[in-house]
Amino acid sequence: MGVVRDYNSRLGASELAKKRFISTPTIPNFGINRLFDLSDQKHWRFNCPKCKFRQHMEWEKNVDFENKIYVCQKCHNEITANTIRCGEWEARYPGRETSGYWIPQMIATYRTCADLIKELEDAEDEEYFYNFVLGVPYLNPEARIPGTLIYKNLTNEKHNDKAKVMGVDVGKQFLHVIGGNEKGVFIIAEIEDKVGKTKWERLGELMDVYDTQFCLIDGGWDTNSAYNFARKTIGKTYLAWYKEDPSKASISRWGDDIKFTDKLRKWEESVRVLIDRNRSIDLLISDLRKGKIRFNFQIGDSSIEELVDHIQTMYSRTVTDKHGKEKREWASTTGNDHFLHALNYFNIALNKYNDYKS
Ligand SMILES: [Zn+2]
Repeated sequence: MGVVRDYNSRLGASELAKKRFISTPTIPNFGINRLFDLSDQKHWRFNCPKCKFRQHMEWEKNVDFENKIYVCQKCHNEITANTIRCGEWEARYPGRETSGYWIPQMIATYRTCADLIKELEDAEDEEYFYNFVLGVPYLNPEARIPGTLIYKNLTNEKHNDKAKVMGVDVGKQFLHVIGGNEKGVFIIAEIEDKVGKTKWERLGELMDVYDTQFCLIDGGWDTNSAYNFARKTIGKTYLAWYKEDPSKASISRWGDDIKFTDKLRKWEESVRVLIDRNRSIDLLISDLRKGKIRFNFQIGDSSIEELVDHIQTMYSRTVTDKHGKEKREWASTTGNDHFLHALNYFNIALNKYNDYKS
């Protein structure tokens, strides 16, 4: 599936109706809000196991804020994840030709009600919560969320020059590197081969110069080179793979989290990190929203503009998995999203690094 923005420019209204527009309304450019209004407006509906009242999740009606659980809109008995799972998509306007889905995180059973209440409490603004978490259609079409996510976090605060942590996205030509420490990001770099020096050797030099202790590298693109690099920087470099829901409880699973006594494992496995792609990007956006990641750059700096460009290619969409279940995922309009992933690795690595230290 392509992007709504593209469809809008390419297709007339009659052709629109034949396409499926399903997405959380995260990016106003794509006009999902309007499309959803015109659509058959599918909601995830389920019956209360106690009183049988048929309903879909509504934040104001289904949340027991005191006990931090979901409850039935009518009888106020608890609605469990299992009840939600037993629901189905139901259209409010079944006759309409355009198919639209409203997908709040309240129906994502890996997020508990308590998680979402905490998210609301932590959110800097309610608009974020309503757009990203509840997934209600946009009310403010002016909100250019992705660019401001970075710009609001720019800082002039003095940093020490040690880039303790790096995140690296690997491509055919470039390594995209984001580096910094708890104080913020101050390296945004694109590294390629130079005469007499490979991009990997140059990355090694960068790590030496900035005293980098912890580097998380995309392992999927050029696995052999990444492992070779990890061998040369042993104890500092880990390889990341995006996997769907690698473990239900955590967003990333580290090779060395597994008890050593389980079995003797290969070194290659011990430096492997499995990352839930969508949840980790959700977390990244949430952390940016909360001001947890600062950038030691000035507005207009070409590096920061490039990072913003890459982030702005991202949009949220819904796809059907092989079991026929709808799921939300992050996609890029152009595929030019390398710094977004480098930043994602950086954020995951920084959290892990802080865990080790504490
Ligand atoms: Zn009920």
